[in-house]
Amino acid sequence: MNEIADNFKTIQTQIKTAAKQTGRNADDIALVAVSKMQPEARVRAALGYGHRLFGENRVQDAAARWQPLKHEYADVTLHLIGPLQTNKVKEAVALFNVIETVDREKLVHALADEMKKQNKFLPCFVQVNTGDEEQKAGVSVDGLPALLAVCKQAGLNIVGLMCIPPADEPPAFHFALLQKLAARHGLQKLSMGMSSDFERAIALGATHVRVGSALFGSRDS
Ligand SMILES: *Cc1c(COP(=O)(O)O)cnc(C)c1O
Repeated sequence: MNEIADNFKTIQTQIKTAAKQTGRNADDIALVAVSKMQPEARVRAALGYGHRLFGENRVQDAAARWQPLKHEYADVTLHLIGPLQTNKVKEAVALFNVIETVDREKLVHALADEMKKQNKFLPCFVQVNTGDEEQKAGVSVDGLPALLAVCKQAGLNIVGLMCIPPADEPPAFHFALLQKLAARHGLQKLSMGMSSDFERAIALGATHVRVGSALFGSRDS
């Protein structure tokens, strides 16, 4: 699993280079290692290398993997990057450190209530469906201001915006749009960019890149 350590070094170098090219500080860009559906040995290799920031897209899979691993590595930080059903909110608030996929009013209220119950006030991102794709999660661009107002009223701590551009379009337009929306609403963080396009996302202001296969290898193998 030395390969995984090499992958981390390569990606971290690419992040530094991309940051430098746009006059940014690489320390302002967090690498969220997306460990969903990866064999445990690969995740352990990343932990052995010293990485502590991970992203998972399903609450139940994440709980099965990370509840035990968190006993060994108490300083792990977990981001939820997949759609969240309201019946999983309790488990999600208990397990995760950051929720990146707030996208509707019902979920805002469920999260705010659960965070009060657990006295655990997690930073959140609002996911924006920048490509207006019917099958994709995220609030529409037009619906964003109203949803942010609901978050504010509910006391949910929204720190930034997140998007997943349409697979069949150049991502730069979507990254630029997300950057513009965050600036308009005074939000500091931008979660955008995956294995194939994180450098472009950094050029357009990403503070969190979510990289899976480029670090861990293909999820199918
Ligand atoms: C799976 C996933 C990623 C990582 O994708 P790769 O192409 O493997 O880097 C990033 N973000 C989200 C929301 C994902 O579901």
